[in-house]
Amino acid sequence: MTAALGTPALGSGDPVVVVGGGVVGLCTAYYLAAAGLPVEVVERRGLGSGASRGNAGWVCLSHSTPVPAPGVVRFALRSLGRPDSPLYLRPLPDPAFVRWLWRFWRSSTPDAFRRGYTAIAELNRTTFDLFDGLRAAGVETTLTRPGMVHAFLSAAEARRHLAVQREMADGRYPLPDAVTTGDDARLLDDALSSGVRAAYLVAGEGVVDPEAFAQGLGEALTASGVKVHEHAEVTGFRSPAGRVTGLRTTQGDIPCAAVVIAAGMRSSRLLSDLGQPLPLQAGKGYSFSVDLDPAPRHTLYFGERRAVASPIGTTTRIGGTMELSGNNNRLDWRRVVAVALASRHYLGPWFDDPDDLVTLIRDPWVGGRPFLPDGLPVIDRVPGHDNAFAATGHGMLGVTLGPVTGHRLAEFIRTGRRPEALGPFRFGRLRG
Ligand SMILES: Cc1cc2nc3c(=O)[nH]c(=O)nc-3n(C[C@H](O)[C@H](O)[C@H](O)COP(=O)(O)OP(=O)(O)OC[C@H]3O[C@@H](n4cnc5c(N)ncnc54)[C@H](O)[C@@H]3O)c2cc1C
Repeated sequence: MTAALGTPALGSGDPVVVVGGGVVGLCTAYYLAAAGLPVEVVERRGLGSGASRGNAGWVCLSHSTPVPAPGVVRFALRSLGRPDSPLYLRPLPDPAFVRWLWRFWRSSTPDAFRRGYTAIAELNRTTFDLFDGLRAAGVETTLTRPGMVHAFLSAAEARRHLAVQREMADGRYPLPDAVTTGDDARLLDDALSSGVRAAYLVAGEGVVDPEAFAQGLGEALTASGVKVHEHAEVTGFRSPAGRVTGLRTTQGDIPCAAVVIAAGMRSSRLLSDLGQPLPLQAGKGYSFSVDLDPAPRHTLYFGERRAVASPIGTTTRIGGTMELSGNNNRLDWRRVVAVALASRHYLGPWFDDPDDLVTLIRDPWVGGRPFLPDGLPVIDRVPGHDNAFAATGHGMLGVTLGPVTGHRLAEFIRTGRRPEALGPFRFGRLRG
């Protein structure tokens, strides 16, 4: 195939089939359909029911950070046996897990961190423009841009955090010159408690209601003629001679001109069928909803405890923790309590006794952020297949990066030329 001709078979009349109805798959389907291609989506449960459901909904530029940051492994090791730690590592006797940790550690050098940050920040440049475009096209994105308050219990930690952010942002988005300290810090958001001794606002940062956003994308797809198969699981592929010609699903076979695997944590299994398994691990996170008075008006980042709060609809969603304990969706109530306790340092005593949480909170949720060991997603053609593509591994940033991923990948599929911004997100970087 020559690059200029685009992905082969696109003119065959068969659809491009997107596997996975999470935010990444839905956005990719949207931009493929917007380019005039026939598209189908296959989702094993309901749209937006995976990691794209209970997350914090942040759409932000100021957290373009890949998780393997310098010092993170030391931090993780200190969490051993401490399930209340913000980053909790439960070692598993699984060679794939150990290999993943080894590569994670190797990726946490200052140079690798900076390269990863730059790659994500560059990809992220057009994120808000794309959200504006989706809204202009009638997609119910639910995006608002109240700004994000970074809150800290110690002024020194706040200053350190802002200094690192300033250096990494490198002028790509506006940051304040200084942190607000002392009693004035809590004036940045009415919900903050007197325990907050320093804070700063990053103006313009956004938030969506993740469930409503997925629903809005689903409705836009249906309206534009995309066939959406819910409760249909892809179980394999027909792929003679390096080209995928069809998918086997629990509801029958679907012929395809091309396929995009955007199946979150389950992408690895599907990619194994195409000879390219990915070393994905779940970075499990927890969230729940609660009615607070006063409720936060901004998205809040609780610096020392690495927890967050988001105004979502009429309620507040509190979330956090990064748990490396294998690829499962088991909800550990101790982690829910840990997130709630962490938030009390910043929001004040919104509950007295952890036992009261059962009645105070709604929708306790656990989700697996799909993580590759270097913390960056793969957005690429699947090696060895000229019409198979993958978009997964978005870790903490799938909602933020969903539109830009879909937009760039649709361009790649349509033209056959990899957009420059996708260079750092190739399969090839994970070899070795
Ligand atoms: C606590 C928490 C808070 C977070 N907060 C934020 C945030 O504020 N901002 C942000 O940008 N990101 C956030 N994230 C990360 C974000 O949620 C993920 O990066 C994102 O949802 C990943 O989307 P996805 O489409 O890749 O995966 P998913 O949403 O998991 O979608 C994959 C879909 O594929 C389907 N599927 C799997 N296998 C098959 C198959 N064989 N056949 C058919 N369908 C299949 C699944 O059912 C699923 O619906 C957070 C995550 C957590 C856990």
